[in-house]
Amino acid sequence: MSKLLMFPEPYPDEDFRSIIYRYHIRSANTTFHKSISDIFGKYSYRNLMFPTNLSLMLDKLPFGHNLDLEYIINNYTWYGLIFSFMDKEKRLNLLNTIINGSNNNILKLRFMPQNLFSKSIRYCPQCIKEDIKNFGECYIHRDHQIEFLDFCPKHLIKLIDKCLICNIPLCKPNADELISLPFCKNEHQLYEQINSIDLDNSGKIKLDLLSMFKIMRDGHSSLNFDYIYSKILMGLWNKGFIHYKGMLFKQKLVHSLLEEFSIEELVGIGLLPDYISRKSYINAIFQPDKVQNNIPFYGLLILFLFKSIDKMIEFNEPMSNPLPFGHGPWRCLNYICEHYNQKIIRDSKVVSKIFGKTHISSEFACPYCGFEYINTWKPKEGMKENVRIKSWGNQLKEKIIELYLDGIPPHKIAKKVRLADSSIRNFLQEVVGTSRMLDENNKQAFVEQLKAYSETSATTIQIDDNKVEKYRHVILDIMKESPSIQRKGIIEKAPSAYFWLKENDKEWFDANLPEKGKHGSPSEIDYPKLDLELKQKIKKLADKLYLEYPYKIYKTTITKHLEPLERIRISIFSDRFPESIAEIERNVEKDQDYLVRGLSRVVENLEKRGYKKITFDKIITIYKPYSNCDEETRKKIEELLNEIY
Ligand SMILES: [Zn+2]
Ligand SMILES: [Zn+2]
Ligand SMILES: [Zn+2]
Repeated sequence: MSKLLMFPEPYPDEDFRSIIYRYHIRSANTTFHKSISDIFGKYSYRNLMFPTNLSLMLDKLPFGHNLDLEYIINNYTWYGLIFSFMDKEKRLNLLNTIINGSNNNILKLRFMPQNLFSKSIRYCPQCIKEDIKNFGECYIHRDHQIEFLDFCPKHLIKLIDKCLICNIPLCKPNADELISLPFCKNEHQLYEQINSIDLDNSGKIKLDLLSMFKIMRDGHSSLNFDYIYSKILMGLWNKGFIHYKGMLFKQKLVHSLLEEFSIEELVGIGLLPDYISRKSYINAIFQPDKVQNNIPFYGLLILFLFKSIDKMIEFNEPMSNPLPFGHGPWRCLNYICEHYNQKIIRDSKVVSKIFGKTHISSEFACPYCGFEYINTWKPKEGMKENVRIKSWGNQLKEKIIELYLDGIPPHKIAKKVRLADSSIRNFLQEVVGTSRMLDENNKQAFVEQLKAYSETSATTIQIDDNKVEKYRHVILDIMKESPSIQRKGIIEKAPSAYFWLKENDKEWFDANLPEKGKHGSPSEIDYPKLDLELKQKIKKLADKLYLEYPYKIYKTTITKHLEPLERIRISIFSDRFPESIAEIERNVEKDQDYLVRGLSRVVENLEKRGYKKITFDKIITIYKPYSNCDEETRKKIEELLNEIY
């Protein structure tokens, strides 16, 4: 497969279509489909905002290019927002399509939100002006393409998708023709087509939603819909929208939304009051397959319940508190456990399901005997608890086997351990086969067999040694990097390693992981310490970027290289991370510094193109930004060039 000879450097917040189009105009291709075919190996005129089959494109990028899949998805598309509204399985499906493409476009479309993004491509006249000044061409900004946001969030100017003088569209619908210069096809200047807006409440909500969506987009690897949904449930519960029997008061919720937000505010984000008042709307809104199409509604709901997404993330009022399961700790229900009926279970895993009917269940596991049960709260059955055993645990199994070996018949065992007769019989049948009388001769053989059973039952999963090693390393690395990290932090960074080891490598897990903290409310986190750690990390990162990163280092360049959680921390809890933020500011590159740092790359490129002795004057004819050099920088560059030649 032939590599592309060049590929444009993406600009900050550039929409993916714009990058592809800029490839096209830089290539010598006379038709757009030739460019698509260069990049994606297929015949098409369509330039997609949500591209698929990126693996092929990545293979074709020129050597030395530093774009990778995640970087493209995170920095030049809105996929992250959509990921945040998906559960893990849907997310994997979509990711697979993004990487490998799909023959089934309908499959992809089903995942994609309708009406959330503008059908036509929009620009801000003032941003066009700035882009021309900074880059010599204008490009599509991601932030301008949210359908309901009809103004530029930076300049508070109406976005335009056509020339306001002659009404001609600026771009073609398939994005196979975009603008690079500030003129419409009839040569009308676009800079002047400025309509400022007054930021009223309706505009403020749009901005609130945009910043929420950006946090979701950029933090998608630490967010998913199950998480968002459980928070929303907590918020609904907290505000009294869930009946103690578990029903959601849908009408009451709609009425409250209509009271809280004005008609202008609702219409502004595309939620028509008449429409959302319909019973069918509110019934559908909580259906899992409807979620992606109702992202603005969920955004509004989050604003309504929590005021902002950071408050939502901090909000932690377990639903189980006021529920029939009580505050915990909870009892062990294994009759033979030495802690039977004592409240020794401190952890519970709440599994909420409110789609359709409301069922809220919690799982409880006794740390002493391994007995696990599920308590389900079903609204129709009132306050009655509905307990189901999930696993007997080894202690109980061994006890039953022991009793059986002592010659005690199943129905008596059942009485002793307070389980159903039939459960005991089923269990024994599974273990020893159909009943055979035990006499002294074959008893010993059975004992061996049963011992073997109880040993294997302790480790029913075949442990994959590579996995053990791999996951242990992941955890140890995380702890080395942030010595004061708590379990919660580790879960956020490496959930699969954490839970897998907890399940399958318990001894090592307990011996090596940090002490179990209380469920971290923000006040218990040692922010100054975290701040210093993050500062160190940023410093290292910035040093590395300075050496390796070919483009100018902006604030976002640094933050985009951080973990999503760290990004969220810096953007949301900025007051708690003063050192880290100062470190970022310190490392943001000034124009003049970048020109000096970029010199070696410029020289290298020019030499590749066959230039022999490169002078400053030659550079400015080809690299526009260098004409902005101040006197001092110019001198510095000339000195450097003198050293080279
Ligand atoms: Zn603007
Ligand atoms: Zn015009
Ligand atoms: Zn127990």
